[in-house]
Amino acid sequence: MGIYTYEDLLEYFPYRYVDRSKISTIRDLDIDEPYVVLRGKIHDMHTAGEGRSLRLTAILSDNTGQIELVWFQGLKWIKESLKSDTEYIVMGKPTVFNGHVNIAHPDLDRADNESKTNLKYIPIYSSTEKLKSKGLHTKGIARLTEQLLRMAGGNIPENLPASLIRKYKLPSRANALEVIHYPTQPHDITLSMQRMKFEELFFLQLDYQYAKHERQIKSNGYMFTIVGEHFNRFYNEKLAFELTGAQKRVVKEIRADMRSGHQMNRLLQGDVGSGKTLVALLCMLIALDNGCQACMMAPTEILANQHYATISKMLDGLGITVELLTGSLKASGKRKVKERLRKGEIDILIGTHALIEKDVEFANLGFVVIDEQHRFGVEQRSKLWTKSQRPPHVLVMTATPIPRTLAMTLYGDLDCSVIDELPPGRKEIKTIHCNDTQRLKVFGFMHREIARGRQVYVVYPLIEESETMDLKDLMDGYESISREFPLPQYQISIVHGRMDGAAKEYEMGRFKRGETHIMVSTTVIEVGVDVPNATVMVIENAERFGLSQLHQLRGRVGRGGEQSYCILMTSNKLTTNGRERIKTMVDTTDGFRIAEADLKLRGPGDLQGLQQSGILQLKIADIVNDEPIIRAARESVEEILSDDPNLDNPDNGALKVHLMKNKKALSWGRIS
Ligand code: ADP
Ligand code: MG
Repeated sequence: MGIYTYEDLLEYFPYRYVDRSKISTIRDLDIDEPYVVLRGKIHDMHTAGEGRSLRLTAILSDNTGQIELVWFQGLKWIKESLKSDTEYIVMGKPTVFNGHVNIAHPDLDRADNESKTNLKYIPIYSSTEKLKSKGLHTKGIARLTEQLLRMAGGNIPENLPASLIRKYKLPSRANALEVIHYPTQPHDITLSMQRMKFEELFFLQLDYQYAKHERQIKSNGYMFTIVGEHFNRFYNEKLAFELTGAQKRVVKEIRADMRSGHQMNRLLQGDVGSGKTLVALLCMLIALDNGCQACMMAPTEILANQHYATISKMLDGLGITVELLTGSLKASGKRKVKERLRKGEIDILIGTHALIEKDVEFANLGFVVIDEQHRFGVEQRSKLWTKSQRPPHVLVMTATPIPRTLAMTLYGDLDCSVIDELPPGRKEIKTIHCNDTQRLKVFGFMHREIARGRQVYVVYPLIEESETMDLKDLMDGYESISREFPLPQYQISIVHGRMDGAAKEYEMGRFKRGETHIMVSTTVIEVGVDVPNATVMVIENAERFGLSQLHQLRGRVGRGGEQSYCILMTSNKLTTNGRERIKTMVDTTDGFRIAEADLKLRGPGDLQGLQQSGILQLKIADIVNDEPIIRAARESVEEILSDDPNLDNPDNGALKVHLMKNKKALSWGRIS
């Protein structure tokens, strides 16, 4: 549980409090409650089952009814300590098992002990099966913590500067910890939790910003001062359109970084189709102009292939060598690419995570672009750092906008650029929600769009757990579409994850060249695929997709000048959450608003890429609901570091100690 020291134990916070004066009756028990308090007598204790299913059961009765209590661990001890026909306060999570309600491993207190406990609010700690079997269920943990607090006797050192404590009127650390674990008044709990949240977020920000600060004082970055032939020829001879204002601004921001002598770590956010790839290409050309190589890493083969194709085409005739490296390349082909890369014969390498394999060595890697970064684990990203004597400049691009709070917490050490403007002439995609009964109408609409020369995507969810079933959905859908749009008049492509790379490639190619009218697929087309002539995106079982995925999918259309449509097909029955997601999609195309809604609906745990990020290991703060605290913590750190960059002021002494302690623990992964 990450508890190694006394301090860790004190920072193991209750996840909720139970008001023990709120006693439920058994008859009116709400089984959806995560935790209930009952009062009654225990009787009919007996053991049942054997081996692993050996358990102890007892009946708890109050004036209104009976409920079963069950224990699977520590039977002997419980059996000996429980007294029949004695009143107990029983707390726990009710569950339904075999049609009746029981509480497994409840917390018990003799009712006549009641007067001895002066706590109205009981802190509830999460525990594990293993710990529970050793008596460390929530009450056991509470007891340890209480004992520890008593040992400390208020001698818990403060770790925030006095100026901050004053400014935000925070309780002291000792006081806050005491109140949280041994709450005497509810108001104090909130205040104390806020103090600990602030502290946690403050130190997180301090780590990030100090790392950034250190990076900035080190002059170890490539200095790209030249804007030369590669860039200029491309810009003047090849670029068929004017950059948007946002693209120009972002190129400027990146150029300033590249000239600074410090290594760049920049996050580029921009909605699908906003022209991030083009910006990345321009910056790679600057790296080339300064005698370096560049590479671009994409999350899927389809995308890598597509980037390779568009970039090769755009750079055609400029004498720039672009190569592709993906897993499906033949061994001999791979070997050749790697050899030429080492010799510096390749200027731009595009690929999948094959790029980060150990034996991929660059002669002179100066600029790294990571596309759609949320698909890459932190580990994978950090490997790119080791591919150059000097750390290359890193541009991380994401089309899934990250809510501000998250960006602040998660990427506190990255500089951030945003492309908040679409290329001119794009029409806003119209989004329509339909259910199964409207299918014929949808088919009719598809017919009309195809008759106008447009192309259509039909996407099915593919969720790994039920892959066979999903594949059947896809094939059934394909069949009914084939009946509705028969050969030879209509051509249909199909792409799914079970197909091999070459077959996928072939089908994608046909659709891209306009040889097929409809692309039936799973979410493999989700990211980055660019077919400007496609104007309709039909998403089947749309309720099964998360918001960011829906947003990504919708971004596949609306890439040309034509009016585009996204049709969300769902069943009639939707969960509240599902309905909310669909409504959000219909209401807005603003990626940032969608990201905020996504975070609220799903919680951070489900956001792609966050699992590995460490942000979920926050002990008490909550990135969804603690936005004001995040902001305050960030501002405080900024202020302190700008007034006292080396933390020499005695008031900041504890901060310096913290950084020293953490220095070793700070991982590269967090930085790129
Ligand atoms: P992203 O990577 O952000 O999804 P892309 O760079 O793939 O976006 O651009 C989407 C499409 O828009 C591409 O076909 C690209 O050539 C085009 N495009 C990019 N910038 C502009 C611009 N300033 N004006 C017109 N078209 C643009
Ligand atoms: Mg893209």
